[in-house]
Amino acid sequence: MGLIRLLPRPAAVPAAPPTQAEPEVRAVTEPTGERMEELRRSESPPTTFAKPTAETPERAATRVIVFANQKGGVAKTTTTLNLGVALMELGHRVLLVDLDPQGNLTMSQGLNPDVIERSMFDVLVHKVPISEVIARREVDIAVASIDLAGAELALSSLIGRERALEKALVQVRSAYDFILVDTPPSLGLLTINAFVAATGVIVPVQCEYLSLRGLVQLENTLAMVRDNLNPHVAVEGIVPTMFDGRTLHAREAIEILEESFGELVYRTRIRKTVRYAEAPVKGSSVLKYDPTGSAADAYRQLAREILAKEEHRGAQAREHA
Ligand code: ADP
Ligand code: MG
Repeated sequence: MGLIRLLPRPAAVPAAPPTQAEPEVRAVTEPTGERMEELRRSESPPTTFAKPTAETPERAATRVIVFANQKGGVAKTTTTLNLGVALMELGHRVLLVDLDPQGNLTMSQGLNPDVIERSMFDVLVHKVPISEVIARREVDIAVASIDLAGAELALSSLIGRERALEKALVQVRSAYDFILVDTPPSLGLLTINAFVAATGVIVPVQCEYLSLRGLVQLENTLAMVRDNLNPHVAVEGIVPTMFDGRTLHAREAIEILEESFGELVYRTRIRKTVRYAEAPVKGSSVLKYDPTGSAADAYRQLAREILAKEEHRGAQAREHA
């Protein structure tokens, strides 16, 4: 079976030479087949991400989930918003934090980052209380503005520069069950701040242009954060996004993910549909824009899956306590 040879192997085993791919597989995977070829030749990913360690009960009471992938356009922002609204529908108190200077999450709630006076920049750099930059929209959101682009530089000379977000969240932590943090497409100081504040990290991965090398870099950064700043932080799940089940390519991408990361890959597939692009234009989540559609249901299902996983993990932790 050609597919077996596509699967990345643990480090010691060299990647199969590209010539071994079966011709009919290549034909069906066009036009993205070249990217898969690249992936096959790329360095092998870690077989698993590191496991999370137990949190103190106070920290664990509010989940701070960071959506990260240094690749842009993988649905980090879309997932942060729609999962947040889905968790709210299930009765949870949710805060979204926009840590991306592009402000897409802020925009997706109908706010204009170009005219916002105070934002997460002021919270991180000038220690303005985060409550002062939380807008109450469909869901509570701590907003970004274009200033945030200067935050990495402004923070870089400050003592405790990696802990600015963690400190800012202390004020509001007890008011929420879930704090969902959207990050920029990089592993810079803003994303590191998010990892330091996090109880868990969820990685959205676009099924089309799978980058396992990118996931290795992400895990390396997390390992550095674990060693120095937050021993509990780990990837708690991988969300396959923009899935088009009609293409062999997308199905192969999922198989590669599951082979590499096993249980970490959520069963819920977020399918490709234009609904996700339409909703933010109206300043709303897809759950509000098209409440009965399958796009909204996908994130409801993901929310239930995440909650079930968290419950399972909590039960295991209690057993071992
Ligand atoms: P990121 O935050 O990782 O850069 P976004 O959430 O902004 O990614 O998504 C990138 C683009 O893809 C946006 O235009 C968004 O509306 C669109 N998009 C997100 N999820 C899907 C999906 N499942 N199907 C189709 N388009 C999607
Ligand atoms: Mg984004």
